[in-house]
Amino acid sequence: MKTFLTAATRLVAAAVAAFALSGFEAPGAHAEELAKNLFGAQKLPSVAQPRSYGFYSKGCFSGGMAIATDGPTWQAMRLSRNRRWGHPTMIRLIERLSHDAVADGWPGLLLGDISQPRGGPMLTGHASHQIGLDADIWFTPMPDRRLTPTERENMSATSLVNPKTHRVIDRLWTPAHERLLKRAASYPEVERILVNPGIKKKLCDTVTGDRSWLHKIRPFWGHDYHFHVRIGCQPGSTGCKAQEPTPKSDGCDKSLAWWFTEEPWRPATGPQKPRARDVMTMASLPKECRVVLNQPEPVSEAAVTLGGFGATTVADAPAPSAPQVELGQPPVPASAFAPTPVKRPPLPVQRPAR
Ligand SMILES: [Zn+2]
Repeated sequence: MKTFLTAATRLVAAAVAAFALSGFEAPGAHAEELAKNLFGAQKLPSVAQPRSYGFYSKGCFSGGMAIATDGPTWQAMRLSRNRRWGHPTMIRLIERLSHDAVADGWPGLLLGDISQPRGGPMLTGHASHQIGLDADIWFTPMPDRRLTPTERENMSATSLVNPKTHRVIDRLWTPAHERLLKRAASYPEVERILVNPGIKKKLCDTVTGDRSWLHKIRPFWGHDYHFHVRIGCQPGSTGCKAQEPTPKSDGCDKSLAWWFTEEPWRPATGPQKPRARDVMTMASLPKECRVVLNQPEPVSEAAVTLGGFGATTVADAPAPSAPQVELGQPPVPASAFAPTPVKRPPLPVQRPAR
C-alpha cells in the first residue's frame, strides 16, 4: 500500500511538472490571458494609422474600418459576430468589388467574415483573418430583398462542391461565378483567392481567353460555399509579414491533381495538437498588438463605417432625406484615414441578365 501511495504521489508530481512545462498555467498571479479573449472582446477598432502587424494567422491591426451591414450592392451576414472590420484598403476593395460585380451581372454580394475590430485571433472559426487583409464572400448571390437579422444568422449557404468527388456540382455553377472570381482577382491589391479545389479545377477546365488571373486562385480545403479574398501588406505597415507570392503559372498542374488523390482528405491520426488560438497569448503576437489593444476607440461605429446606412436593417436606416454623414464633415478626430464617404440613398440596382 505504501509503495502504491508513493508511486501515485510521484505520478501526480510529474503530471504537475509536465503541466507547468506545457505552458498552460492554472489561473493565478502569472497566468497570461489568451489573446483570443482580449481581441474577441473588442467592440470597436483603434483610432490610429491603419497598420497591420504580424502575419495573416498571427497578428492584429490598427485603424480599422467597417463595411456597413447593408449597401446598395451588398448585405453582410452573421452580424452577431462583429467581424465586418478590416484595413481600410480591404473595406474599400469589397465595396468596389460589389459594384463591379453587379455591373458584371452578379446580383450583389453576401459578405462573410472579415476581421474583428482590432483583428487578432478569434474565439471561433478562422485561423487567419487576423490583420484585416482577409475577407470571405459567399458564392450565394444576394437575394433581391433585404434579409432579416435572423436570416443573416441562420441562412446556410449552398455548397458548390460534391463532398465525395470534390468536383463542382455542374447544375449550380454558372458563368457568373467565373466572372465574379475573375473580377475579384483583377485588382492589383488582391494577392490570392482561396477556393475549394473543385472550383479551381472547374476554372482550369473551362476558362478560355485570358487565363493570367488563374494564378491568384488557390485551391484549399473548405471554401466551397464562399471564397476568401486576401490582399497584400499595405503601404505603411512595416510590421506586416508578406506571404510568399503565388507561382506565376495558372496552377492547373500536378499541384492541383494532388487534391484529387486520397491524401489531402485522409483523417488525421495520432494526438491532435491544440489549435493555435487556444495557446496564443499576447506574448505570441507582435509586441505592437498590446499597443493596439490600448489605443482609443472612435466616437461611434458609424464614424468608421463605410457605405450603406450603417444600420442593421433598411427599416432602421435613417430616412433617405437625412444622410448619415454630411458633406465636408472632417475625419474622425486623430484618425488618419479618410472620412466616411457620403452615400446617397441607393439607386435601384439593375439586374442584368446572367
Ligand atoms: Zn476566410
